[in-house]
Amino acid sequence: MHGNVVMKKPRKKDLQALELSREVYLESPEQIINKAIALFKPVKIFVGFSGGYDSTVATGYSMDNVQGCEVVHIDTGIGIKLTRDHVRQTCKENKWPLRIVRAKEDCGQDYDELVKKFGFPGPSHHSLMFRCLKERACERLLRDNKTSRNDNVMLITGIRQDESQRRSNYQDKVVSFKGNLLWVSPFYYKDKSWFESYIKRNFLKRNPVSEVLGMSGECLCGAFAHKGEKELIKLVCSETHARIEALEIEVKNAGHNWGWEESPPKKRADDRTEEMFPMCVGCGK
Ligand code: SF4
Repeated sequence: MHGNVVMKKPRKKDLQALELSREVYLESPEQIINKAIALFKPVKIFVGFSGGYDSTVATGYSMDNVQGCEVVHIDTGIGIKLTRDHVRQTCKENKWPLRIVRAKEDCGQDYDELVKKFGFPGPSHHSLMFRCLKERACERLLRDNKTSRNDNVMLITGIRQDESQRRSNYQDKVVSFKGNLLWVSPFYYKDKSWFESYIKRNFLKRNPVSEVLGMSGECLCGAFAHKGEKELIKLVCSETHARIEALEIEVKNAGHNWGWEESPPKKRADDRTEEMFPMCVGCGK
């Protein structure tokens, strides 16, 4: 019995993606990617490069091994400039085509305006942030690259299982769809040491921001910020630190009496408790 709840019938390709996720357990990244391509025939393939270590591996691997792949970076409007510079520079040095999708300019989502309207998110308001700062950018990427309604666009990620299990209810989905965006995480079952050794063996450049923050710094919505994180940000980018502090004053003046590292006093009634958005899985250490 589901009362008045209307159960949405899963699409064929969602079921196929789920089946493929089960089937590719312990297969190589190459096999996983090839199977996803063969089954879903994406019209375009991207790899997400946030600037963090795992996405560095995903990007290096994909650009060396996946034909026609291009790099995508999301400029969330609340990221560290050094990270954006690192992404641009790495792509330039390696001659990797880079597409940057900007939350504010390309998708009309302005972080400053959002937090002045709703306050800083805290974990309970995380879904608002990912929908505005990341999901819209992914939808834009999809819109800009598909030519017909049923086209699939593939996005390769560096998500790995140990990371996702620790931080979220992200399920073991190596292959999944969000709309017609096909998310593939071919390194899902690789562990941290495999990533480390891949970086070393392939001489991939590390983002200096990640060395200090332990994350890419491309997105600092604050939903999972912990006490002391602002001080760490100050070590890598005093400009971003100053910006967050100035914004805290503006947000308080707008009537939201808690800071970037804090949580709202009450859980919002309309906040969705859904599965972690793939691009946020690596957040919240
Ligand atoms: S949780 Fe992390 S990745 Fe997701 S929107 Fe917030 S800062 Fe960005």
